[in-house]
Amino acid sequence: MSWLSEPWQRLCRILAEDRLPHALLITGEQGVGKRFFADQLAALLVCEQPDLTTGARCGHCKQCELTTAGTHPDVRCYSPEKSRMIRIDQIRSLSSFAVASPQVAGRKIALIDRADQLNINSANALLKTLEEPVADLVLILLQESGRPILPTIRSRCQTWPIAAPSPDQASRWLQTQLDQTNAETRPTADQCRRALMLAANAPRLALTYLSGDFMAQRNQAFEHFRQFMKGQITVGEAAKPFKALGLETSLWLFEGWAGDLARLGAGAAARDEEAADMLGFLARHNPAWRAHELIEMIHESRMAGVYNVSPEMEVGRLLIAWQKLMPVKRVAASQKVLL
Ligand SMILES: [Zn+2]
Repeated sequence: MSWLSEPWQRLCRILAEDRLPHALLITGEQGVGKRFFADQLAALLVCEQPDLTTGARCGHCKQCELTTAGTHPDVRCYSPEKSRMIRIDQIRSLSSFAVASPQVAGRKIALIDRADQLNINSANALLKTLEEPVADLVLILLQESGRPILPTIRSRCQTWPIAAPSPDQASRWLQTQLDQTNAETRPTADQCRRALMLAANAPRLALTYLSGDFMAQRNQAFEHFRQFMKGQITVGEAAKPFKALGLETSLWLFEGWAGDLARLGAGAAARDEEAADMLGFLARHNPAWRAHELIEMIHESRMAGVYNVSPEMEVGRLLIAWQKLMPVKRVAASQKVLL
């Protein structure tokens, strides 16, 4: 992952100068490699003989053996369960881990994947640990682009942005990964290109898309969305394929389309080229603020999703909001008389 080397080298310099902050906030698009970066960092931080000029861990000390096996007792990860929020009891467990002595390494690493999924109570509980740094603890927080975290949390961390790779870098990395898979079921070049386009060039996300049913499910969802916009099917029918994708992914798709609507309205190109025709039509018939209103609605749905609102209802609500963007066919004056 060549695009990670610049932020990685920068971090190694800081480590070599012994200036590592006690809390790092790694930010970037979904699927850009934030978690991979954080895991590498955690492994480097506990290794007994790291090479800080190249950023490589030794690979054979006791710590390295444990991190390779994924069983290091001083490296803990806290992540949302079933794509919901990080609960307060998870942060309480982190707080006890923070004050306990390391078991085998010289320090402890607590990874929060993802810090943008902390609810208010968990965020406040985490603040205590952030405000009273423990010498042998390094906190690594991950944040997905466009998902806000509390300013009180952000201001106590050093932000470490990971930029998305160039289209060339992304496609080369994806190809290398796919070269190791069964040639018979390997995706075609065009499928790779489409997956990268839908993943906004985040290669790990594109790889996930290509490995599962996502591409087919997404196509079906878009087709239903398009038919609903034309009034050919009911909202209930249109929402069905979104159910298979789940609320989180459905919202992410709608967010992408609303983002494209805003981009097209501003004269730029759409990222999702398959949806470009329909979204271009809507952009020509609606003021720019409608796109932002939809984005706002999607953010509200995401918050509602946390509280177990029915995914189909949320998708239905969004579909109806989108349909309001369709221009109303005006009845000609001559026909009005007949009516
Ligand atoms: Zn080592």
